[in-house]
Amino acid sequence: MLARNTAADYIYTEPYAMQGLFYKLNNFFSPRADKSAPDHHPVEPEISDTVLKHYSFVIGSVFSYFNDLPQDSKLKFIQRVHQFKASKKFHFIGLEDNDDIAVLVSASAIQITFGLKNYMMSYFKDIYVLADAYQMDNEEELYIGHVAPDGIYLSMKHFLYGYSHKTKDNINVAVHEMAHALVYNNFFAQYGVDSHFRLNYEKFSSSTGAILADVITNRRSYLRSYAFSNLHEFWAVSVEAFFVNPAGLKMNMPELYEVLCRVLNQDPGTKNKIA
Ligand SMILES: [Zn+2]
Repeated sequence: MLARNTAADYIYTEPYAMQGLFYKLNNFFSPRADKSAPDHHPVEPEISDTVLKHYSFVIGSVFSYFNDLPQDSKLKFIQRVHQFKASKKFHFIGLEDNDDIAVLVSASAIQITFGLKNYMMSYFKDIYVLADAYQMDNEEELYIGHVAPDGIYLSMKHFLYGYSHKTKDNINVAVHEMAHALVYNNFFAQYGVDSHFRLNYEKFSSSTGAILADVITNRRSYLRSYAFSNLHEFWAVSVEAFFVNPAGLKMNMPELYEVLCRVLNQDPGTKNKIA
């Protein structure tokens, strides 16, 4: 979850002291995947030239990540977006139904899973797109996105802000929420599990201790302080920085950058993205 002004998160935060929480989550996220189970993964479907052209235009107008890709990877990206979008129900709240918005939101999911074999996040059937920041239940605070068992929620206004070229604050709400959704899909729901991701996520969670110690010692961090609310937020904020400004994260936190490359099996600092 990402609040607009302050740094609250109610879905994943648990009432434990930070150290205890890190420890608990580290244990929780040790790999438990059944290694004997076959690693079923989806296959990219064929798409028509019309879809290819239209999606290229829509995605290319927002995602510099996509524009960097070589032609064959662009095709794979669009095939995945098409497949992802077709498998979800999009709900538009406060704005007209818009297929292009569904394409863009799907593209943000495919961006972070582009290096993985299981990219469908098949636990999630519903995606809610809201026009602007919103309130939840009876809370006064405004939110720009969150992930709950019933779906992925995003403010479209803030979605576009995250992908605007001027953004150098490492904030991208779509990447942030898709990062939460990916963990939820693989560890809590265990639907369409990506075994590479599960195994390597442990390396990510075990690298947090040293980074946290460094932040406490030096009293500053390249990542915004929200990252240190708990392990889930550390993950989501790290993935945001990884995609918004790969060069910046690589320069300031090279070990973290390296681990994220391994977990997501891609390097967004390169044009090819996939090694
Ligand atoms: Zn969050």
